Amino acid sequence: MTLPQPISLDKIIKNVVLVRVSFDVPNLDNLERIKDALPTLKQLLEQKNKLILVTKWGKVKELPKPEQMPDHQLSTSNLLPVLQAELSDFGLETKPVYVNQFASPDFAAVQHSQQYFAGNSNLVLLENAHFDPREKSKNSQERLQIAGEYAKLANFVVDEAFASSHRLEATNAEIKTLRPFALGLSYTREVANLEKLKKPKKPFVVLMGGAKLETKLPLLQKMLPISDQILVAGLLAFTFIKAAKLNAKKLGMDSDLPEIFDSFVEENFVPQAQELLLQYPEKIILPVDFVYDEIIKDGQVKKLACDIGHLTITKFVTYIQACQSLFWNGPMGFFEKPPFDKATHQIAQIITESQCFSVLGGGDTNAALGPEILAKFSFVSMAGGATLDFLSR
Ligand code: ADP
Ligand code: MG
Repeated sequence: MTLPQPISLDKIIKNVVLVRVSFDVPNLDNLERIKDALPTLKQLLEQKNKLILVTKWGKVKELPKPEQMPDHQLSTSNLLPVLQAELSDFGLETKPVYVNQFASPDFAAVQHSQQYFAGNSNLVLLENAHFDPREKSKNSQERLQIAGEYAKLANFVVDEAFASSHRLEATNAEIKTLRPFALGLSYTREVANLEKLKKPKKPFVVLMGGAKLETKLPLLQKMLPISDQILVAGLLAFTFIKAAKLNAKKLGMDSDLPEIFDSFVEENFVPQAQELLLQYPEKIILPVDFVYDEIIKDGQVKKLACDIGHLTITKFVTYIQACQSLFWNGPMGFFEKPPFDKATHQIAQIITESQCFSVLGGGDTNAALGPEILAKFSFVSMAGGATLDFLSR
């Protein structure tokens, strides 16, 4: 789908604006995504606009009936007090009002939202966009149809949901064909920083950990030609080590490959891992040692590699200290269970002490590290899947 060009945020003045945000934190445990959108809201409010916020919230399994929605655990009505607190911490003295757009089929409740904009509120928070299946329908006509309902509510649209940018949804895609739109400040910052990694200053190191090689292969394939080294850790490493063992002679890696014992291998991706290793034998850097844990499963002792070992850390550090730019996605080990968080923290420390342009890409790695160290990276992406998708394109 081709979209018109965005306009500048500065151009939206004294209007009603539908702002697509990504407040997608159903457990309310990590409020960074809310905080991240506040500067955009502030600017729009200072430009005397009235705002209607819409977000997806969590994974909706069964669709509630409109009258049940406000009581549903994934109703954005649960988000209201948190949003209120965040707004006021940020110095925005506005009282957000929750309105269920789905209460009537033609969104009449919101169309009459002038009443909500009365008093001291200039901010409406709509119900969870995913409560209507048309929002993310595979059928573009259905998405267009509900986008039309949203378009009735506002003269302008602002997209501040970079984290959803890899998904085609009515409130981040079709709506932009119906109303002039601008990108939010955080969205713009995400794109600008991630763009830099598409033409990185060299040497460029990519650090890949975490799980699900399936979701990370497109990024690996895109990054291998433009990077100098890809350091592989986390659960991803086991599939590569298995693949390397199958080609050990050809790769001249025999003695370097550590035992993985009962650690989880994504068997169906072993062939692709083999291909990549043969194509880029110098660039793909694998762990040389691990820290293990023993668990009992079905009455048997299983030995699992739960973190990269100190020799691997030392090896990775030499590349990190020599690079000019770095992208990191995915924790080095099973960080939720200390002491297997050790390598993740040590590596983070080394990166933030180095002078390189360092970008941390989303998801669980952000959670593993905590705000103090995150602040020392050049840029921390708020998105998970969207970041990987943007860099893979
Ligand atoms: P991200 O969200 O940063 O992309 P993933 O979701 O791909 O990361 O993977 C994160 C998960 O991988 C974490 O829950 C972490 O515990 C797990 N993990 C990484 N390495 C290991 C390991 N060696 N053993 C068990 N779990 C691991
Ligand atoms: Mg994750």
